[in-house]
Amino acid sequence: MSTTDPLIDVLVIGGGPAGSAAAITLARAGRHVLVVDKAAFPRDKCCGDGLTTGALRHLEELGLNPSDVPSWTAVDDVWLRSPSGREVQLQLPDRASMGLFSAVARRIDLDAALLSLARDAGAEVRERCALTAIRTAPDAVEARFEDGTSVRARYAVAADGMWSPTRKMLGLHEDGYLGEWHAFRQYVGGVTGPAATRQYVWFEPDVLPGYAWSFPLPPGPDGKSVVNFGFGVPRDGRPIKDMKKTWADLLERPHIKAALGGPIEPEDRPTAWPIPARIDRAVLTFGRVLFVGDAVGATDVMTGEGIGQALLTGRLAGDAVVAAPAGGAQRAVTEAYRSAVRHHLFADHRMSVALGRVLRYRWGARGAIRVVATSSWTRRNFVRWMFEDEPRAVIVTPKRWHRRFLRRKGAYLASPGS
Ligand SMILES: Cc1cc2nc3c(=O)[nH]c(=O)nc-3n(C[C@H](O)[C@H](O)[C@H](O)COP(=O)(O)OP(=O)(O)OC[C@H]3O[C@@H](n4cnc5c(N)ncnc54)[C@H](O)[C@@H]3O)c2cc1C
Repeated sequence: MSTTDPLIDVLVIGGGPAGSAAAITLARAGRHVLVVDKAAFPRDKCCGDGLTTGALRHLEELGLNPSDVPSWTAVDDVWLRSPSGREVQLQLPDRASMGLFSAVARRIDLDAALLSLARDAGAEVRERCALTAIRTAPDAVEARFEDGTSVRARYAVAADGMWSPTRKMLGLHEDGYLGEWHAFRQYVGGVTGPAATRQYVWFEPDVLPGYAWSFPLPPGPDGKSVVNFGFGVPRDGRPIKDMKKTWADLLERPHIKAALGGPIEPEDRPTAWPIPARIDRAVLTFGRVLFVGDAVGATDVMTGEGIGQALLTGRLAGDAVVAAPAGGAQRAVTEAYRSAVRHHLFADHRMSVALGRVLRYRWGARGAIRVVATSSWTRRNFVRWMFEDEPRAVIVTPKRWHRRFLRRKGAYLASPGS
């Protein structure tokens, strides 16, 4: 790294949803952006592939066209099962008149489509280009890559995921940190039961406050239905059981077997990955570096969902840089970003922590589902809240109240068939 390296506006490290959202925002505002990712796209990411209403609204605003994502699957309802076996069907608002509130998309093609949107917006994208060194100087960030090249940038957005090499290289890594959740997923073909089209969430007594899921996807090349089937468990100090064994054991449970039908055919290799969910304790910025997505632990600690939060923090980081006056002070940018993250995510995180404590117990999960099932009003509105139609803690944050509370349209209303 040397002071003669080319100087660009922003270096984005990582081309997942957080990095692409930042790059699209910055490139559209005319900034010179370089996105580097160690992987070659399309690349897979271990995930449940579920898109909340919040995520869908960001995707629409970023300009993603669902038809560019081959596995895009719109979802109209979700089935919850309590630890005592009570099943509740929650219907999402009508897609034709209200838009889309939930969808599923394989990350291998969602992330590739988003990165290509960043490219179309004008960002330079270098794949198979891992960051190998970074330092933040008073007037620029200096970075070097695996291919021997280096660059200087006014700011860097670290969107490099749970293990964030940027965080490590800047000396911010906490030894022994393994995330707040650990989750396991595998694609399963040959599904003949109702799970072929329905979204299921099972609160199994031995997995609480974690849960198992089955999210529908388009049929495979053999015409047989495919789902993303997995489960997540919190890392709360208790040892994590053999996940592969738990996964196989879940598949043997009669209600799950009935939902999947079969004979099912697990596809390719199973994967497990940690989920970081501690935005309130993370280092949000360091010098001229802004951390986003999993690199800043932005995932919802109650559900483990992080795509919407990755898109949000990526956009907030982009907005903070764009809003800075030319040649403006670094502190204005980093403070603007920290303040936006506090505004959008801190109260929700605290609310999710509190609710997660209730779901830890059988009685808590059972009681929650009983309350949800009380009336058509509770069913209708709980499902919207669950899918992040409104921020988790909107009730206790009056600054975020608005007139159309739980009456807002979903996403992609112009193309409801999405
Ligand atoms: C099993 C499981 C299920 C989940 N299910 C859901 C779900 O259904 N819905 C949901 O919303 N969320 C879910 N999540 C969470 C979600 O996957 C993450 O929150 C989301 O991927 C975060 O996006 P990101 O852009 O921050 O990071 P990532 O998607 O992890 O992207 C990070 C990028 O950084 C790149 N990178 C890493 N190191 C370097 C380097 N040295 N140089 C350059 N690039 C580098 C990587 O190649 C990668 O492309 C799940 C997570 C798991 C583990």
